[in-house]
Amino acid sequence: MERYDVVIAGAGVAGASLAYFLSGTDLKVLLVDMRPFSRAGDKPCGDALGKHHFDELGVEYPKGEELTGVVKGVDVYSPSEKTRYRVMGEGFQIDRVKFTQRFIKAAADRGVEYWERSYALEPILGENRVEGLKVRRGGKVEEVRAALVVDATGYPRVIANKLPDEWPITDRLKPEDAIVAYREVRRLKEPVEEPEFLRIFISKAKAPGGYWWFFPYSLREGLVNVGLGVQHGVGNPRPKDLLYKYVLTRKEFEGSTIVEAGGAAAPTRRPVNTLVWNGVAVVGDAAYAVNPIHGGGKGSAMITSWCLAKALKTASRGDVFTAEDLWSANLCFLQHYGIKQASLDFFRIFLQQLSDDDLEYGMSRKIIRETDLNTVSMKGDLELSVVDKAMRLLAGIGRPSFLLRLRAVAKFMNRAKDLYSKYPETPEGIHEWVKEVAKLYSEFRAKVLK
Ligand SMILES: Cc1cc2nc3c(=O)[nH]c(=O)nc-3n(C[C@H](O)[C@H](O)[C@H](O)COP(=O)(O)OP(=O)(O)OC[C@H]3O[C@@H](n4cnc5c(N)ncnc54)[C@H](O)[C@@H]3O)c2cc1C
Repeated sequence: MERYDVVIAGAGVAGASLAYFLSGTDLKVLLVDMRPFSRAGDKPCGDALGKHHFDELGVEYPKGEELTGVVKGVDVYSPSEKTRYRVMGEGFQIDRVKFTQRFIKAAADRGVEYWERSYALEPILGENRVEGLKVRRGGKVEEVRAALVVDATGYPRVIANKLPDEWPITDRLKPEDAIVAYREVRRLKEPVEEPEFLRIFISKAKAPGGYWWFFPYSLREGLVNVGLGVQHGVGNPRPKDLLYKYVLTRKEFEGSTIVEAGGAAAPTRRPVNTLVWNGVAVVGDAAYAVNPIHGGGKGSAMITSWCLAKALKTASRGDVFTAEDLWSANLCFLQHYGIKQASLDFFRIFLQQLSDDDLEYGMSRKIIRETDLNTVSMKGDLELSVVDKAMRLLAGIGRPSFLLRLRAVAKFMNRAKDLYSKYPETPEGIHEWVKEVAKLYSEFRAKVLK
């Protein structure tokens, strides 16, 4: 039986980009996915990706068939749709299959072995470490031995969810820390106005704990991605029913036809406690690397993979890549994304509790302005000064309890940033640090969500 340095389970954007970042090195890498190559990366998605991710990671922009739209910014609408925030920011609409195939092809050309139609079944566990992966391929179960098994299977976490509870990488997802969404790609009868602006509609009544979206593909006239996501695990109605009830009955969809349809789930919480443990790692959705506010996860999936690849390239070699060997992947990810993500998680939980009335009030009074919203989303910073200024301006006509709660949220966001900036330098400190995180959440729930 052949032995690999790294076996990657899942060839979505996280696994495929990891294979690409590791290709061309002397590491012997195997990439497996249950889907055929023709459906690589085909998870239902809004297909939007920020340009800054490509700049940060040195990855070539999508072009040709991969590129289905150019994005200049996002319009965010209040529940009544009377207030619109225009947040500028460049990005792309992509053909997610062609985009993922790009990574797989480039990785395979540079020596990575790729098995399509191959199911990752379970990790092979050894003494306090993972030693390989069981894979079903062509009707047979193979035991693939590797120094590192990477779970890139996305939301189902096929490997990580089968690890012992006491390993910090196992860190199970609570249902309420996820969204379930349904989306259709539709051809409209009329061309879309300003197709280079994506549109997000916030409404607790229509999309409880989430939002609905209208993302045009600006390079494919009349084609739009329209979907709706709701918070999971709290008894919300099915997103497809809500989309058909509140959204597809709108005038702009009259006479439109369905090109594609499908639903999926995504995590929307803080990052996983650790990306690596002994002989095992997680990337992408399996590492919960998704923006808690807008649910975008493709760019951050690439960041987890880029950081893990960096750690692997410099790690010393043995039978197993240990948590200690690869710990720098955590520090890299937190610095590039995870600290902001942790801070945004507090904002997300707060937003999910607000009524449409509060959302309307907050947006129509511009308590957080467009520019501040951009800072919140790009950096996870909600400056106390922004809230304090709103409190002064709205003195007498404001909603003191709402503003005080917002002020408290801003403080917790700062504390989260501080705690995640003090992430342990080595695996030894992880259990104590995880307890500190749990304490911060308990305090937040007691003080802000009471
Ligand atoms: C409705 C919706 C809309 C979204 N819109 C956006 C958006 O506009 N922009 C954005 O950036 N993000 C968006 N996201 C999030 C984004 O889709 C994910 O964050 C991203 O796809 C994560 O990539 P991944 O590679 O980690 O997981 P996935 O894309 O889920 O890939 C996992 C791979 O693992 C494979 N796999 C699973 N189980 C096994 C197994 N047992 N054996 C072998 N292979 C297996 C699958 O076939 C798949 O190829 C959206 C999510 C949803 C649900």
